[in-house]
Amino acid sequence: MIRIVFLGTGAGSPSLSRWALSTAIVYDSLIGLLDCGEGCQIRLQQRGISPLKIRFVAVTHLHGDHVIGLLPLLQTMTLFNRKDMLEIIGPKDLKDLVELFMKISRHKTSFNIIYKDPLEKISYNDKIFIKGFETCHTIESYGYLIEIKYKKDLFKICFTGDTGPCENVVMNCKDVDILIHDATFLSEHRDEASASGHSTVEDAAKTALEANVKKLYLTHISSRYNDEKKILGEAKKVFKESYLANDLDEIIIF
Ligand SMILES: [Zn+2]
Ligand SMILES: [Zn+2]
Repeated sequence: MIRIVFLGTGAGSPSLSRWALSTAIVYDSLIGLLDCGEGCQIRLQQRGISPLKIRFVAVTHLHGDHVIGLLPLLQTMTLFNRKDMLEIIGPKDLKDLVELFMKISRHKTSFNIIYKDPLEKISYNDKIFIKGFETCHTIESYGYLIEIKYKKDLFKICFTGDTGPCENVVMNCKDVDILIHDATFLSEHRDEASASGHSTVEDAAKTALEANVKKLYLTHISSRYNDEKKILGEAKKVFKESYLANDLDEIIIF
């Protein structure tokens, strides 16, 4: 079975219902994580996903709500005596972050970590292909295009992480089956969205329309909003095939 699991769908400040950002791509026993915000390993447990089977972690950028969950996840993998190599894809400073943490906590992983450039196209078992592209945020930041090969089909997913409205996202997410897009704010907080390098729900829907994607999933939702109908309504006005991602939701692809 191939599925997308939304582990966390919250923004900078998580809430009880929306934890920090993290999404899993599960292709039978081949598993990849897109971002790993605070608490992601607990969400993995809740969905029965073993940390030992995670083959790669692709981090969009180094804001805490996207990466801080990686450090305790690496510790857990070591406690479980993981031996398989792990690939970590992300900005260059990510290696420094992990290594500094290992150094000051006098910790050593039980497995090798290989760090990968986000702009390199990487294949996993000729089943999952991933390649990053730059997004429009306040620091170095990447979205990821994931192609999933199953029999004769090629299913495409685009995951933006944090971004304001961004021509590079439209270009790289052209015609994908599923676009998972930053939708931190409602239009009433448009100024705040621009100032912080984020998108409104409407921005995300416009990107989906321009990129001609099949389905849009809104994520990275600010904890200040609890009216889901309002969020979805704003998106559907622009792009009909809009859906709101919630923590622990799953999409079965094949
Ligand atoms: Zn964020
Ligand atoms: Zn950010």
